[in-house]
Amino acid sequence: MEYARTCQGCGAVLHDEHPTREGYVPPSVFARSHDGAPITCQRCFRLLHYHKPSTVVASSEAFSTMLHDVGQQSGLVVHVVDIADCEATWIDALPRFVGERPIVLVANKMDVLPRGTSLTRMRDRVWQFARAQSWRVSDVHVVSAVQRIGTASLAQALARHARVFFVGATNVGKSTLVNALTAGVTDHRLTVSAMPKTTLQAVHVALPDARTYVDTPGIVYGRRLIERVPHAHVLRMRGEMRPVTLPLRSGQALHIGDYVCCEAVSPVPSITCYVAYTVSVRRQKQRSTHVAPLVDEAHGGEDVSWKPVRRRVTMPARAVIDIAIGGLGWLCVHADDQAVALDVWTPPGILVVDRPPWIGGKST
Ligand code: GDP
Repeated sequence: MEYARTCQGCGAVLHDEHPTREGYVPPSVFARSHDGAPITCQRCFRLLHYHKPSTVVASSEAFSTMLHDVGQQSGLVVHVVDIADCEATWIDALPRFVGERPIVLVANKMDVLPRGTSLTRMRDRVWQFARAQSWRVSDVHVVSAVQRIGTASLAQALARHARVFFVGATNVGKSTLVNALTAGVTDHRLTVSAMPKTTLQAVHVALPDARTYVDTPGIVYGRRLIERVPHAHVLRMRGEMRPVTLPLRSGQALHIGDYVCCEAVSPVPSITCYVAYTVSVRRQKQRSTHVAPLVDEAHGGEDVSWKPVRRRVTMPARAVIDIAIGGLGWLCVHADDQAVALDVWTPPGILVVDRPPWIGGKST
């Protein structure tokens, strides 16, 4: 349906029909907007808050259509994830579309891991994670597209494939990776064309040896903090991790940045925060209930009325676990002779999962 209103950002006539056409807004945005209140189209909204309008698909249906198209075409499928955010950037549904074809996993942004992190160990962790989901994976590469680490050997491994699809959530670094892989290979490398049988835009990069890399549109799941917070906060969540370790007494709270708090239900002997060095880590006597604004996609503004949700994490004596928090990083928690319980408070919808320790704790 076309509406008699225009986007406050670009002036395009608003409609809810074609997610890739300018002026598109999800129908739910209209349903929730007040009469006459200014509305921002999805493209402008994403430009404003994520600086990223074009390689994002609008809905999970459109994303499924795109994955279906990838699954129908011959070529190697490379799933790109953010190594600091593996669970939240993992596309669970991918094997359903790719069928029996093995997938190559690329864990990008290794440069943000603490200095001295064993890459072999991180590669093992990603393999283990894929195995735990019963994925058929033919190879795992841990790379940094920005620093061009691991990209030469990845390019070599991809060289025997005529067509390679790069698939992943938005912001994992797909475009940066494709640019890194093709740098020096071709000057005129980015041409935009529609994928066959779909109107969704993919970027086809033609290589001189007649091969093609296809950078596909990503999706915003809304389960990562970086997808939900104002841009200034996003900038603070990027950057190298410098782990901070603290104990917590029962009742004490650890505020990590402006959106996440860990509250000790029992004493916590050691908690290590693997987050960007620009994220503040503050221990307090008790949890502060003040909330920083979240981005309100429905009204193109900010929302300070949200309520944090609590996830209780328990662990037996002598256990070591990571608690991964979508878009932020992870916490490595050690118990000693006592069982440990803590509450993790985040904005609603943010992924919080526990897993075996990736860096801290004994290698298994
Ligand atoms: P896409 O949405 O998956 O195509 O992601 P982009 O290529 O647009 O990258 C998203 C953000 O991640 C940008 O700010 C990039 O600079 C950043 N980025 C991409 N690759 C890396 C990397 O290897 N290391 C770091 N630290 N940042 C990266």
